[in-house]
This record gives sequence, C-alpha cells and structure tokens, in this order.
Amino acid sequence: MSTLAQETLQCEIRGASFGPQVSDLQPKSVTMAIMAWFKKERRTRTSQRERLEIPPDAWEKCDVCGHVDIRERFERALRVCPECGHHRRFQAREYIELLSDEGTWRELYGKLRSKDALPFEHYLDRLEKAYAKAGDGDAVLTGTARLEGMPIHLAVMNFTFMGGSMGSVVGEKIARLARRSAEKRIPLIIVSTSGGARMQEGVLSLMQMAKTSTQIARVQAAAVPFISVLTDPTTGGVSASYAMQGDVIIAEPGAVIGFAGPRVIKQTIGQDLPEGFQTSEFLFEHGQIDDVVPRGSLRDTIARLLRHMTGVGSAYDDELDEAG
Ligand SMILES: [Zn+2]
Repeated sequence: MSTLAQETLQCEIRGASFGPQVSDLQPKSVTMAIMAWFKKERRTRTSQRERLEIPPDAWEKCDVCGHVDIRERFERALRVCPECGHHRRFQAREYIELLSDEGTWRELYGKLRSKDALPFEHYLDRLEKAYAKAGDGDAVLTGTARLEGMPIHLAVMNFTFMGGSMGSVVGEKIARLARRSAEKRIPLIIVSTSGGARMQEGVLSLMQMAKTSTQIARVQAAAVPFISVLTDPTTGGVSASYAMQGDVIIAEPGAVIGFAGPRVIKQTIGQDLPEGFQTSEFLFEHGQIDDVVPRGSLRDTIARLLRHMTGVGSAYDDELDEAG
C-alpha cells in the first residue's frame, strides 16, 4: 500500500467517513482528497465546538481538588464541591436564606454607619466602595427570622465587606441584637467570618470585643440559647470574643479558625506548629468547639439544637402529644 493510501485509510479509521474510498482514487486525486479531508476536518471541528459551546462563566473549578463542574451544580450543593466536599465561601444573604423560613427575615439596625473618628487616611472612600460592592449592612447583617417556626435572632457576618472586619458598627449591631435576645428571650444565632479588627477604627475596634462580650453574658445570664457558627475564616477580635462564647459552637468543615496567623504564633512561641493547626477539625479534636457540621446539615442541626435547648417541639413533647 502506498504512503498516501495509508494516510487516507488512517483518516477513515479515525472516523472521517466522508473521505473517498482508497480503491477509487488515482494518485493525483488521492492528494486532493487528503487536502479536502483536512479542510473538511477543520470545518467539522468548528461546528462541533459551536454545538458544545457553553459560556465560560458557566463553569466553576474547585480550588482544592481542581474538579470542574457547571456552576449550577456547585450552587445546588450550597457551594460545596461535589467531588471533595471543600466548602467555598457562602455570602451573608445565602446563609440568611439557608437558616430562616421563607419570607420571615426582617433586618434590624441596617442604618448604622461608621464614622471616621480617627480620621484614618482614605477610610471614608474605602467605606463608600465597600457599601457599593457588598451592600449597606457593613460587615454583619442582623435581624429577626423564624427557623422551622421558632423565632430566632440571626446575625451573619459578611466577608465581602472589608474582609468581615469588626469595627464599631459590627460590634454595635451584635451587642444590640444580643441585648434584644436577652430581653425578649429569643435564641441568638451568629454566623461568623472575619479577618480581624477594623484597623481604620483603631482602639474603637478593639473595644467591640468587650462590648459584645458584655451583652453575650446577659444572654447567658437570662438562660437564652446562643449558638455560634464559625465559617472560613474566623480570626482576630471576633474569634477572641462572641464567636467563642456560644453555648454551642459549631464550625463548617475545613474553616480556618484562630486568633493570630500561624507565622506570628510560630515566632512568638518559637516552636513548629502541628499539622492542620487552626482548622475546624483540629479544634474539634482538641475540645475547643462542639462539632464540625457540613453546610448541608447546618439548618437541621441548629433547629434540633434549638428545640433541645428551649424544650419547644422536642421529642418529649411529641410523645406527650401522642399520649393525648
Ligand atoms: Zn473539590
């Protein structure tokens, strides 16, 4: 068999059904057929690409395992990778939707605004940009809602707003919501994510740790349940105050939770840090948090905890109802 005939045959083997049969061809027409084959091949590929075309922004890639999937699948799984279970960042509004019964969310203290008390260079400009980018709730949204019919006070931090940094507005909103919880005896749920204190507010940011802790203490003195949910990352002043003061503290898998970064700690104590240090799982193993709960189970877990802690709608009540 000639070289050209072999090439034509190979084309046919690769699935080019439109190529002329080898036996029908003279040497010159074989050459032309191969040229035509290349042209047709190119056209065929183009049309296939057009048919399979999916907009590039419809795909998402997992940062941890590299799994690529259509965005809708990530969204249906609450932004958890269907392959490796990595929890991507969830927006504050998404947590509110997840943890409250439909149509029950009412925002409180949404009009509070930071002042540039120091005054810190460019702080007001940065605030304006943050309001435009991440909404006007500052780095936490606070409000009332119902969860499986039970009234709750819910605060969800917003990492998109200046890294979830705690300034005077975040502290004030948390403190007011906690005080309202104690007064009205409504359980408090805080979903935290924070890069630390709002450095542009200096010592005013640091004072929020004491202010929020005082109000959380009132919630606890009133024996009103407070469930703290830690998400990635929960660090700095937030982890050093209300995030770690829950009656129950639960964290999403793989979340970074700590006060200072590992480099600072290593320099301070002069020792190497253990593997997985400052993750939810590590803190759970060492007794600092109560459970690691995947996002898909968060709603059910919190509802069950609330029923247990408040005694409302508990299994015991169901038994009594059945007994008549
Ligand atoms: Zn993954």
